[in-house]
Amino acid sequence: MNSVSTTENRPTVCIIGAGITGLTAARQLMLKGMRVLVLESALNSGGMLSAFSVGADRLEHIYHHIFTTDKDTLSLMTELNLEKDLHWYSVRDALFAGGRNYPFSTPLDLMRFSELPFLQRLKTGLTVLKASRLRDWRSLEQMTAAEWLIENCGLKAYEKLWAPLLRAKFDLDADEVSAVWIWNKFKLRGSSRASHGQSEKLGYLAGSFGRITDELTSQIIAGGGQILYGYTAMGLSHNNNAQDKSQAKYKISCILEDCSSVDFSADSVISTISTRQFANLSISLNLQEDYREKLLSVRYKANICMVIRLRKSLSQYYWNTICDNLPFVVAVEHTNMTGTGDYGGHIVYLSRYLDIADPVWTQSDGEIFQSFISGLEHVYPDFSVNDIIDWRLRRSRYAQPVIFRDYSNRKPDMNTPEEGVKLAGMAQIYPEDRGINYAIKLGKESAQAVENYLEVNKLI
Ligand SMILES: Cc1cc2nc3c(=O)[nH]c(=O)nc-3n(C[C@H](O)[C@H](O)[C@H](O)COP(=O)(O)OP(=O)(O)OC[C@H]3O[C@@H](n4cnc5c(N)ncnc54)[C@H](O)[C@@H]3O)c2cc1C
Repeated sequence: MNSVSTTENRPTVCIIGAGITGLTAARQLMLKGMRVLVLESALNSGGMLSAFSVGADRLEHIYHHIFTTDKDTLSLMTELNLEKDLHWYSVRDALFAGGRNYPFSTPLDLMRFSELPFLQRLKTGLTVLKASRLRDWRSLEQMTAAEWLIENCGLKAYEKLWAPLLRAKFDLDADEVSAVWIWNKFKLRGSSRASHGQSEKLGYLAGSFGRITDELTSQIIAGGGQILYGYTAMGLSHNNNAQDKSQAKYKISCILEDCSSVDFSADSVISTISTRQFANLSISLNLQEDYREKLLSVRYKANICMVIRLRKSLSQYYWNTICDNLPFVVAVEHTNMTGTGDYGGHIVYLSRYLDIADPVWTQSDGEIFQSFISGLEHVYPDFSVNDIIDWRLRRSRYAQPVIFRDYSNRKPDMNTPEEGVKLAGMAQIYPEDRGINYAIKLGKESAQAVENYLEVNKLI
């Protein structure tokens, strides 16, 4: 076993995960003069934002857009000089229900959605409006989304419209999801609309959002930070070799691709991975039992996302939510937002969230491809498999934490009982839902918390 120790006379902060959260935190700490070491199990930066080459352009493995209200993303892009390549688009959305596609971009579309009785369409519209104006989200904490939606929109609207959407995201846990989660969606979409009655504006960065994590990576390396790929953090413990405060307090053990292991020491640690993974790797820290219980009680949905390049467009819609029971729950025709540009075809993502106990999770890529394609033929009868130029599939194990009722009391806090160790994963984002903007915000907050810790302990 190799051992790497810090010799420079400035504190070392170890960051686990080179996604947008970890890289944002690392850059901020580096700019403050800290020595940063980022450990990443994959062979590249970016995490869920990582991109690949398509035609003469780049594209994320998973669909992404941002909202006009994503202030932290916008200000980071300005700092990185990327905002000049950010474009805003008005898109058309649809809902596939009862075997047909309904336009679903504007309040008027909702009023025309004939799958629901008119009164329930009206109530649904009013609920969305009311929710987007509600500030006191805590008043919703004890209710499930199902209870709140049935009470406000009516049972039929819930069954036809909302239950499929909740199931699409949370699968078997759909009935338990907090009303705060759905409130937040209404609020976000409402404030992103240019004005009442217009469809919302979505932002996309030319060349993919992977450019943000690429630029962060370059800046961290140029500033003397270290990012190690293929290093999977397996253990976090106290550094028993530390004799006094001048020596790093924590030891992080990694396993490499060749099964060898290596230890690092650090004065402080930020973990950006799931709470469950963190609970396992931090076992030797003996964190308080109630905190460990919180870590282990967070449930995550996995995601399967297939991206296909097509010779011709499927429809005029960017986003199509699938309410009927099909193998995927959303079809995102990315090029209906951005145009086909240099992709060399039309880009469509098909995505589904699921529990890893679901047999689909362990199906081969080919099997998933077959079932997704049969679903696509159902939604777009003009589509033919011969239209496909190429495709690829990405599985994300920890794609979405389930936000249960009373989540403010269930959420494991960013400040763990071990003062020098901070937790900055998707499960720490609340009442907002996980997303690039909140990942950046949390990355900055965790870096600030580390700086405070180092200051209080006179390590800087
Ligand atoms: C289907 C889908 C669609 C989305 N669409 C949008 C969207 O349109 N707009 C938006 O704003 N957000 C969207 N998001 C959310 C957004 O992608 C995430 O919120 C964000 O990328 C999370 O970044 P992160 O750094 O917190 O996590 P990640 O990107 O998951 O980064 C964590 C990193 O840690 C690494 N890692 C894991 N375990 C270890 C270990 N033991 N040791 C070392 N490294 C480890 C992983 O390889 C990964 O690189 C979407 C997410 C999904 C799943």
